[in-house]
Amino acid sequence: TNAFFEPSPLDASKLVVNLAKELKPIPPPESLVFGETKTDHMLIVHYDPAKNGWSAPEIKPYGPLSIDPASSCLQYCPNVFEGMKAYIGPQGEARLFRPQMNMERLVRSAARVALPNFDETALLALIKCLVTVDKRWIPTKPGYSLYIRPTIIGTRTNLGVRFSDSATLYVIMSPSGPYFKNGLHPISLLAISDAVRAWPGGTGSHKLGLNYAPAFLPQIDAIKKGYDQILWLLETESEDTKKKDYRITEVGAMNVFLVTKRDDGDLDLTTPPLDGTILPGVTRLSTLNLADAHTRGEICFPNVPPTLKIHTHEKRITISHLRSLWSEGKVLEFFGVGTAAILAPVQKIGWEGEDMVFPEGQEKGGLGMIGKAILETITSIQTGQLKFKDW
Ligand code: PMP
Repeated sequence: TNAFFEPSPLDASKLVVNLAKELKPIPPPESLVFGETKTDHMLIVHYDPAKNGWSAPEIKPYGPLSIDPASSCLQYCPNVFEGMKAYIGPQGEARLFRPQMNMERLVRSAARVALPNFDETALLALIKCLVTVDKRWIPTKPGYSLYIRPTIIGTRTNLGVRFSDSATLYVIMSPSGPYFKNGLHPISLLAISDAVRAWPGGTGSHKLGLNYAPAFLPQIDAIKKGYDQILWLLETESEDTKKKDYRITEVGAMNVFLVTKRDDGDLDLTTPPLDGTILPGVTRLSTLNLADAHTRGEICFPNVPPTLKIHTHEKRITISHLRSLWSEGKVLEFFGVGTAAILAPVQKIGWEGEDMVFPEGQEKGGLGMIGKAILETITSIQTGQLKFKDW
């Protein structure tokens, strides 16, 4: 970099708004398929060192991009993205859930593939403008929301294998209903070890487009074998026996949680640690934070006795340990968490030709007591029915 070159920062005050002449009809919420329908407008801003950094951001009608076929994003994949949602609050106001965390993660992801940096506060201010412009698209029906997809792509047009010094940042939005088409139901997982999603020193802890495509083929294979999603594993050494084992990393594109009963009657809520192979999910951290808040008596989970303590752990879970907990009947709940579905209960895990079948949760959708409490509490905070910190 040139010490004399100070690129102009992303500046929200330079926003130009060009509204669509005709607005699209909003489909009935029941007909929405996740990620399919797009709103009327998008936000777009370009980074070009020859033009002194970030351009004036623009909100304009949703439409195709025009990019050079040699663009870096189409060749070497310097592509990063985020997933967040807007909800309607009790006063009809638009609400975002912990959006600073998505902005911080996007900056980290961009840095990992050498895409330009940007001011997180400025991007959040611009996203708020875009959400305001397309506010009529935020569904009001419970369980529905407006999915927001900030994206940054490298646009360098030279085919030489090198970082992209130019980029386009855009934000598109899609009204969405519950992630699972047929309503919440327990999912089944196929645990695999031949394909891995992430590895030490790899990019699994960043939200890069290139992390996702290699999962498609194993995912198709899992569906052919009758499972819904992959349980991603990573070879590891067993702590006790020092033998080869596999640690659990994530479920499909969700973080994973295990609920087990302790000898003292309390519960353990365990998720794998952020060791570089796990995406630091907003829902993951929120789940840990809320369980801790319940245990400290700061909030009371619905339908969970206030005296029932939930001890949270960020700790490796190996598949053989899970199997022994399961065979001893100690697994109370196993679920995935993420922005899209919020929480998905798991009922079955296939591993080495055998299925571990967990007791089906007694609550609607196959949820267990803790999964239901977390899902309901997060939803209440997102929709502004429950106030919790500045979330
Ligand atoms: N893991 C992966 C691989 C993901 O793509 C996502 C979705 N962003 C998550 C976990 C969950 O993260 P979040 O709670 O921030 O949506």
